[in-house]
Amino acid sequence: MPKILFAAGPALWADYRAALAAAFAEAGIKATITPETTTPAEIDYIIYAPASPLTDFTAFTRCKAVLNLWAGVEKFVHNPTLTQPLARMVNPELTESMVEYVVGHTLRHHLQMADYPQDGVWRNHLLPPLARERPVTVLGLGALGQAAARALAQLNFPVTGWSRTPRTLPGISCLSGDTGLGQALATAQILILLLPLTADTTNLMNADRLTRLPRGAVILNPGRGALIDDDALLAALATGQIGQATLDVFRTEPLPPDHPYWAHPNVTVTPHIAADTRPASAARVIAENIRRGEAGAPLLYPVDRARGY
Ligand code: NAP
Repeated sequence: MPKILFAAGPALWADYRAALAAAFAEAGIKATITPETTTPAEIDYIIYAPASPLTDFTAFTRCKAVLNLWAGVEKFVHNPTLTQPLARMVNPELTESMVEYVVGHTLRHHLQMADYPQDGVWRNHLLPPLARERPVTVLGLGALGQAAARALAQLNFPVTGWSRTPRTLPGISCLSGDTGLGQALATAQILILLLPLTADTTNLMNADRLTRLPRGAVILNPGRGALIDDDALLAALATGQIGQATLDVFRTEPLPPDHPYWAHPNVTVTPHIAADTRPASAARVIAENIRRGEAGAPLLYPVDRARGY
């Protein structure tokens, strides 16, 4: 019977205890699960989250996999003591939530709500473009980027997507590499960042790349805060090169109360809520990966440490 350490922290244990028990029962897994251990060498699987107090994995000599409850792994993927196989979270509810966030905020910008301040002035002379006249680019075509791109294409937005390796997706113009990025930015009236944070993607949207966007472009960032150079974004907002930004993720979270984003008239801040992991569906993914681990089958959603995601 596998022994599982729930190392995602005491706050999450309260939420996950019952969800994991239900998912294990559903998957026919008999296991013991504990929120702490004095015998790390007896642990077979670790359920993990980036805020976990566990940072040294050396003593977990029998551990077959570390199973992260979050999609992003940038905070610990290069931890030298973490040599065990690592899987990240992908699940239908996480994806559904991100699609709703992206579609909702894309439509909010597309409908130009900022042009209609609630000030008693009847501005009915504006003719907003249709979705098919508003090119949108999604940087990152993974689990979340593909689903968001597909949903936007279904609403008639011309969608360009960009990824590290070349991809072919029905209804999406897929680009890759440096030349592809230039093309993907050049047409993006609305730019959506759904990339993982790695050495290659840190500050991807720097001052130079912000100038590659059409003037007045909108940026939506539910990916990771450090994908954007904040000073460069604030400068581009000041000149009007960037019209508006909706930001869900930040270098420092919670975003400090005195950060200029909070008070900026053209920035919407949301508190990292685009796609939170929900215990019931996340527990099913964890159970399936433990089932696979016990059967000697490959893990779902493995992280490639060399790529960093
Ligand atoms: P994923 O499946 O790993 O997809 C990542 C995508 O980014 C892939 O298409 C990948 O290209 C592309 N990519 C990575 N490095 C690149 C590079 N250097 N140049 C070009 N493309 C690159 O990840 P996911 O599940 O879609 O999640 C994406 C990110 O969303 C997560 O890492 C996390 O940071 C963020 N997230 C945020 C929230 C929130 O609540 N705000 C919730 C969940 C996730 P390939 O296709 O070639 O591999």
